[in-house]
Amino acid sequence: FGDFEAVKDVSFEAREGAITAILGPSGSGKSTVLRMLAGLETPTSGRIWIAGRDLTDTSTQERRVGMVFQHYALFRHMTVAKNIAFGLSVRKVPKDAQEARVRELLGLVQLEPFAHRYPDQLSGGQRQRVALARALAPKPSVLLLDEPFGALDAKVRQDLRHWLHEIHRELGITSLLVTHDQEEALELAHQLVVMHEGKLEQVGDTNAIYNEPATPFVAGFVGAANVIQGLVISGRVQFGEQHLDGAGHIQEGAPAHAYVRPHDVTVSSVPINGSSSAATVERVNDLGWISKVRLVLADGQALTAEVPNERLDGVAAGGRVYVDLRNAKVFPPASGAVVPSDELAAL
Ligand code: ATP
Repeated sequence: FGDFEAVKDVSFEAREGAITAILGPSGSGKSTVLRMLAGLETPTSGRIWIAGRDLTDTSTQERRVGMVFQHYALFRHMTVAKNIAFGLSVRKVPKDAQEARVRELLGLVQLEPFAHRYPDQLSGGQRQRVALARALAPKPSVLLLDEPFGALDAKVRQDLRHWLHEIHRELGITSLLVTHDQEEALELAHQLVVMHEGKLEQVGDTNAIYNEPATPFVAGFVGAANVIQGLVISGRVQFGEQHLDGAGHIQEGAPAHAYVRPHDVTVSSVPINGSSSAATVERVNDLGWISKVRLVLADGQALTAEVPNERLDGVAAGGRVYVDLRNAKVFPPASGAVVPSDELAAL
């Protein structure tokens, strides 16, 4: 955009028939990528292929993409049926074929009784289902969804996620979903493209990214994580009296950050094993079947654990407990001085 680079060096392949989520914080460039795929923005350099064809220089109409935006963008003066038929009438599809396709889509999005209503006579969730039916009507080769549930409340979002998952299973259409909501991405997508400040952080299958984050940003953004600061001593992250394995790839004496998921923290009123750390319980928030336990480690660092209520075992605010941290992912901090080896020896 003029002098401003909104995205840079973004190359990835969205698998055919899968849902690929483009995930990142606000301003990371997700919508810009989607809009370039749709032909609504022109990349300064680089190419875009859809189903093996280079479509960089073709118009939006010729790309055969279906788009759904956060703000419904339905035509207010048209009924639900007319909205869904819009793309077909533009393409001069015969009337009876249009009607048959609209009936089919009304069934798919479960809105048959609403065919003759106008958009402002529908709930937000129903409007997004109409928007999806309208995008699907011309049988696009790719479906592009830009924060499609962003304006809806939590319960409706949850219902629509489930419903989109089902529709995708039925149609198998290659889909790209822009979202800043990591839970939505993890639940819906097969593949993730994680973006940060206009660049790619990591691309891969959802599980692989969750379990093997390639960068500290991904470790902290995709799924919740505690960040524990320490120094690398004998290939382990040392913090206070404790240490964590997994720092063999970082230089001795360098500072390190260990990322640990709240559900990978075991809390117990008795020592768990030789390496469990002492901590004080600051607060316990009961979320129904699970509790969030806020802890302070002996060296003053804060930590959150998620513990199923049946395993709380008397853990309560103010108590002394032991914690065992599993599956830590260790990264060097963005910048940090290495402690000289003579000082290291003194630690
Ligand atoms: P959000 O989740 O907030 O929608 P995003 O990840 O989709 O964010 P983009 O909308 O792609 O981010 O914006 C990326 C960057 O490009 C931002 O800094 C934004 O201000 C800038 N930007 C977007 N559109 C334009 C434009 N038309 N002109 C100039 N800058 C723009």
